[in-house]
Amino acid sequence: MQRDIDIFELIEDERERQVLGIELIASENFVSDQVMEAAGSVLTNKYAEGYPGKRYYGGCEVIDEIEQIAIDRAKALFGAEYANVQPHSGSQANAAVYATCLKPGDKILGFDLSHGGHLTHGSPVNFSGRLYEPVFYGVEKETGRLNYDNILEIAKRERPKMIVAGASAYSRDIDFKRFREIADEVGAILFADIAHPAGLIAKGLLNDPIPHCHIVTTTTHKTLRGPRGGLILMGKDLENPFGIKTPKGEVRMMSSLLDSAVFPGNQGGPLEHIIAAKAIAFGEALSDDFLHYAIQVQKNARKLASILLDKGYDIISKGTDNHLMLIDLRNKDVSGKEAEEALGKADITVNKNMVPFDTRSPFVTSGIRVGVSAITTRGLKEADMERIADFIDRAITHRTNDEMLEEIADEVNRFMEDRPLFAY
Ligand code: PLP
Repeated sequence: MQRDIDIFELIEDERERQVLGIELIASENFVSDQVMEAAGSVLTNKYAEGYPGKRYYGGCEVIDEIEQIAIDRAKALFGAEYANVQPHSGSQANAAVYATCLKPGDKILGFDLSHGGHLTHGSPVNFSGRLYEPVFYGVEKETGRLNYDNILEIAKRERPKMIVAGASAYSRDIDFKRFREIADEVGAILFADIAHPAGLIAKGLLNDPIPHCHIVTTTTHKTLRGPRGGLILMGKDLENPFGIKTPKGEVRMMSSLLDSAVFPGNQGGPLEHIIAAKAIAFGEALSDDFLHYAIQVQKNARKLASILLDKGYDIISKGTDNHLMLIDLRNKDVSGKEAEEALGKADITVNKNMVPFDTRSPFVTSGIRVGVSAITTRGLKEADMERIADFIDRAITHRTNDEMLEEIADEVNRFMEDRPLFAY
């Protein structure tokens, strides 16, 4: 077979883009060689519908061992009693949770997308907002933070069947204990989506949802630094205290209901090459090296936020507890779209993002979201954050000067070219 140079040349272009640029997209990261190797392995050839020991296909003996290791490591990493490692993505993990716990039309209370939530937390353009009845909580205007008294008030008024805790663009630690008190007060199921900070939570650097939330999901590719994918976890309540029933009316263990919602409910054959890569990433995340990495992520984010604040950037909530920050550019008279484009020309990748109480559309926005998980994997430390902040500030200031942006891009390329993608 002839090598497909069309595609491989493009992959090489993308590798070069990743090596030479500064990657500040908060949901991205760089995986280790062994995670990459598993993701590109012969396991992609295998069908394995079902679960370890209960498959609908022959020849799954090796696959069973791999998937069981992934499950056991996920449980060990998060201190969970149950793990399902099959969801192809975070969205599919969330779909399985909703399908397990809710009927179409049931009310969910989620974090407003324009305040930091995720599409799958009830957005009208997503299945979660079309199948279920979404209501939202947001951040306080003055502080940029969640106000739990306000959330309680909304919950009491709306009486949702489920409360979703978790976000895509919220830089503060989430109080899952308080969320559980709110959920208990209104008899709601509490579901935490920790897709963004999962790696920091796994290492005990942020509040742990597992003791407080009925069900937890995450993606595996953000701070957790694994392959693209999803994961469902439960700490307790496996015996189904809500009396949730199967479509046939049986009350079964939550583990069994969730497993069925993933397969056959939402997916077919699991991606076993990705599950092997997840197992490796979970193994890496169990190590002390990963603890050092996660601590460095938090240090880098805090440092970058404080330098940008000193440069006059309005960071929502005035700082960060995790790996990201949301920058409101209204005081700089720049839209998120303009900033994203200017930074892109300087080989710095970010995404435009709505800020709380934004008046611009989601295609323009008034902010950018900046995360440090990926640059920390490349070995950058606090001292390097001065350079990063300087690049960002200059590119935004000179956003209409293409020559200047090209000069910054050259500097960015020289700053990054000798750093490996994975330095841990
Ligand atoms: N949940 C949250 C909080 C997210 O931020 C994301 C992705 O950005 C997802 C779920 C969805 O993950 P995926 O893109 O894998 O579907």
